[in-house]
Amino acid sequence: MLIVVKPGITKESFAALLEEIERLGYIPHVSEGERHTLIGAVGAPPTPELMEHFRALSGVDQVIRISKPYKLASWEVHPEPTVVFFPTGSTGNGRFMVAAGPCGVESREQILTAARYVRKHGAHMLRGGAFKPRTSPYAFQGLGIEGLKLLAEARAETGLPVVTEVTSPDLVDVVAEYADVLQIGARNAQNFALLKAAGGSGKPVLLKRGMSMTLDEFLMAAEYVLSEGNPNVVLVERGIRTFEKATRFTLDVSAVPVLKSQTHLPVWIDPSHAAGRRDYVTPLALAGVAAGADGIIVETHPNPEEALSDAAQQLHENEFAALMEALQRLLPALEKKPATHV
Ligand code: PEP
Ligand code: MN
Repeated sequence: MLIVVKPGITKESFAALLEEIERLGYIPHVSEGERHTLIGAVGAPPTPELMEHFRALSGVDQVIRISKPYKLASWEVHPEPTVVFFPTGSTGNGRFMVAAGPCGVESREQILTAARYVRKHGAHMLRGGAFKPRTSPYAFQGLGIEGLKLLAEARAETGLPVVTEVTSPDLVDVVAEYADVLQIGARNAQNFALLKAAGGSGKPVLLKRGMSMTLDEFLMAAEYVLSEGNPNVVLVERGIRTFEKATRFTLDVSAVPVLKSQTHLPVWIDPSHAAGRRDYVTPLALAGVAAGADGIIVETHPNPEEALSDAAQQLHENEFAALMEALQRLLPALEKKPATHV
């Protein structure tokens, strides 16, 4: 339920209100807007009697039932856009961010080379998987902790924050020790124990849409992270399963405006995993951006033909540079500026 506080509420009444919300088993989430202070009291669906009880308390203006199943992710509870800050810029405030790098960290030379050139061409964040969720147990599984250390080395040299995937709850602490941003992959988007653990990590979370997830389910996954007290969630549309086989997945461009209408969280797209082929990556990236995405996460590898995972979809350096140039031409037309760079 949503409690709209009276403008002149005293400090004491406000504190008493928060205490009463907690006493009745709800978690208060305060959102201070320009005109109103709102308290999202999140918990079990409220009874009419409970809502009446809160209406009668001092300093309460209105009590409203939140209509969506997701609460903290909704505009109702959080009427301002969420801005997530990184060392090289921010997302969700009309600025545009690019995270780029290889699918997986494969060697020191590979990740440092990629980090240097993505930085040079204007990326704001380095991506690279150290723990790879692979369809086959016989495929390259990632370098694990060694990969995390290499990412940290690449960050130290380039100043780019790093985003890398965490695949299980027991890995959250170690990944959070090295990474700036935790990625939760499509295959784990409804791993609720992992979502909760990532929510408790204190690190921003880049949450991919599961390949068969509805947008409501996607928002409920984000709600798991938010409900652990972590407000820094970026949603990533990365393609869904359809009957079409020409691409690896089908990039759901409509997810961008739909999500934007439902949530205050930043929305990015991942054209690489949707396309599955490098020649489709740039058009899909541009389509997502034109639809209103706040950022992209894209795969590029110094030598994609030799990549140990996702070889067909990773961009060569020159293709990545061309994508960055195309973005620079498109963004002004959308009245978007690139995120500030270091
Ligand atoms: C990835 O980004 O490396 C990845 C595995 O993506 P997804 O979870 O979207 O398949
Ligand atoms: Mn990949």
